[in-house]
Amino acid sequence: MVQQFRITLLPGDGIGPEIMAVAVKILKEIGQQFHLQFSFQEALVGGAAIDATGEPLPAQTLQQCQNSDAVLLAAIGGYKWDTLPRHQRPETGLLGLRAGLKLFANLRPATILPQLIETSSLKPEVVEGVDLMVVRELTGGIYFGQPRGIFAAETGEKRGVNTMAYTEAEVDRIGRVAFETARKRSGRLCSVDKANVLEVSQLWRDRITLLAQEYPDVVLTHLYVDNAAMQLVRWPKQFDTLVTSNLFGDILSDIAAMLTGSIGMLPSASLGAAGPGLFEPVHGSAPDIAGQDKANPLAQVLSAAMMLRHGLNQPEAAAKIEQAVLSVLTQGYRTGDIHSPETTLVGCQAMGDALLQALQTEH
Ligand code: NAD
Repeated sequence: MVQQFRITLLPGDGIGPEIMAVAVKILKEIGQQFHLQFSFQEALVGGAAIDATGEPLPAQTLQQCQNSDAVLLAAIGGYKWDTLPRHQRPETGLLGLRAGLKLFANLRPATILPQLIETSSLKPEVVEGVDLMVVRELTGGIYFGQPRGIFAAETGEKRGVNTMAYTEAEVDRIGRVAFETARKRSGRLCSVDKANVLEVSQLWRDRITLLAQEYPDVVLTHLYVDNAAMQLVRWPKQFDTLVTSNLFGDILSDIAAMLTGSIGMLPSASLGAAGPGLFEPVHGSAPDIAGQDKANPLAQVLSAAMMLRHGLNQPEAAAKIEQAVLSVLTQGYRTGDIHSPETTLVGCQAMGDALLQALQTEH
């Protein structure tokens, strides 16, 4: 039986359209192989939307995304729009999209591929075999807590204030995503907080500990965030799934990303309680190489694989794409960002063609 899925494509700006074209080609092929029928609809977001409509997230785009089974985004932003007022900036469109789709969980894997071990700035023996997932809370914590602002203090000075706050329900829902994620991986979950200093973290730790009773198959540990940052660069292989708050997750997921050494390789997923998830590369729109066929499309393609696994429940199709990525790297194909002297330098399109061939020959 053929399964049907409505996918909204948001190519965005810069290298976005180039890498999205590769991902769509790969999805079409995988669809044929696995009897999945995708109905793709493009929509405008970011600078492209500003140019066409004056707004970074037109209402029509949000509505179309809400009516899809999943949303695949490339990247937004560029020099051209950098001087616009904040509410008209491309980034505001992205934040609006996350809020509009109620995406409270951000999943960022960091996997060291054996073929790219040399691109990490850490020693090969430290990073070899690293395969971890950071689950970050995305719509609460200090980025959204009230009160916030810069106020006049009694001394006459200005005083900046932000508030880190979580309710039990907010911790529980991200906790559940994390336990489910760990369960699908190796069954180990590390919750990161600062419970020795912060009450909000104490509540976080209490709720996560309570939740663990529902997941007896998952081994739960806790770490303070300062220690977690240190452990990530000391011995990252000790981790499988990490769960943490918005601010801590922002920082730790970037540390985890840099273990791999190659931003053009990293996908991400943002999920809500119901409704479509948003799948996008970690990197930006790379305006410095846009339109030159130099972009690495693999983060975008791996984001499409995450969409299949976490958004459309098609793990076999996702694994097939991930396998094809490994295969082209094993064959020695590299875009400029991951190129080394003994490998074959290819452009974005040629990398897409190599991937397609890998998918077809392994069919
Ligand atoms: P960036 O990730 O776009 O680029 C950083 C560096 O990495 C650049 O040298 C770029 O050429 C390179 N790079 C990035 N992706 C690559 C790829 N797939 N293949 C090869 N090289 C790649 O970050 P930046 O330069 O700080 O930001 C550029 C624009 O992107 C800004 O407008 C920024 O706001 C936006 N941005 C968007 C997102 C998003 O859409 N989620 C994320 C980050 C930055």
